[in-house]
Amino acid sequence: MTGATSSKQKPLSVEAARTAWVEHPHFKYRGCAPDSDNPQRMAGNPDLHVGAHHEPDAWAPETQRERRAREGAAVEVCLSCPVMVLCDAYANSITPEGKLAEERGVWGGRTGLERGRALIRARHALPAAPANRFETPQKRAVLRALAVVWDPFEVAAAAEVELRRWSAAEGRVFDCRMDVRTANWQRSSLVRLLGLPKTASRAQLLEAAAGRGLLDGVRVVADDGSVPAVPPPTKTSAPARPYQLLLPLKVTEAALEPSVRPRRSRRSPSRVPVVRVPTLDDALAPVPVLSFPTARCLEAAA
Ligand code: SF4
Repeated sequence: MTGATSSKQKPLSVEAARTAWVEHPHFKYRGCAPDSDNPQRMAGNPDLHVGAHHEPDAWAPETQRERRAREGAAVEVCLSCPVMVLCDAYANSITPEGKLAEERGVWGGRTGLERGRALIRARHALPAAPANRFETPQKRAVLRALAVVWDPFEVAAAAEVELRRWSAAEGRVFDCRMDVRTANWQRSSLVRLLGLPKTASRAQLLEAAAGRGLLDGVRVVADDGSVPAVPPPTKTSAPARPYQLLLPLKVTEAALEPSVRPRRSRRSPSRVPVVRVPTLDDALAPVPVLSFPTARCLEAAA
């Protein structure tokens, strides 16, 4: 619900976001404001310099460890700031050139690197598919099954949907239950349609589906967050097919179909010999007992 709503909202302009931030009644209580007693110190943490949210000047470079410590302390101040949400909205609003309003420094509890990465992720994020793409019975069934279980075989079994398959061997359409490969393919399709990355977890998939209203009235069993939305491929996913015992048939000329019955040659009136295929009786025939020369016979021969 949240993602669908926010995707329809028009983003605030930089000027509007900044106005909303600086004109908030609590703006003067922001954490990074100068301390009233010592303007060089920060109101939210007097141990910090008032400019700790921003990178030092070029002539006073800092090491990586110093930068991490400074940014960590600045983020701590932001987390207690009363206007953090509005500050974050302003700093991450997009300029007409497609850049962040504040590209550098800690704003709204996030470093410039984190906010830049978030912008790149948002640009590469796939737009979620329209709702009617989720309306197929298979996707609905797999999603509802995935809300309760996550083992690939259990999901396929819990997705109580009948499939119609064409059997080329039997030459007819037959009904069957969903197999694991189909269930996994539907899980992968759901991830793609919801605009999630391929490495999304089951929890992320269910959260996105719930946000689209696809799990209304469905009880969701939570996991520890490590279950992938799409399980790795398994070689045992194909349903086992029963083997058919093929026995050799006794081929006679009369048993052959007319189309395959051997023709008689005009030159040679004799019949074309029919190849005799071994029958089951031949296979089960008793094995002849071999007789080996006895010791007495060998002695006589010597
Ligand atoms: S969120 Fe952080 S950077 Fe923004 S006003 Fe508050 S303390 Fe300052």
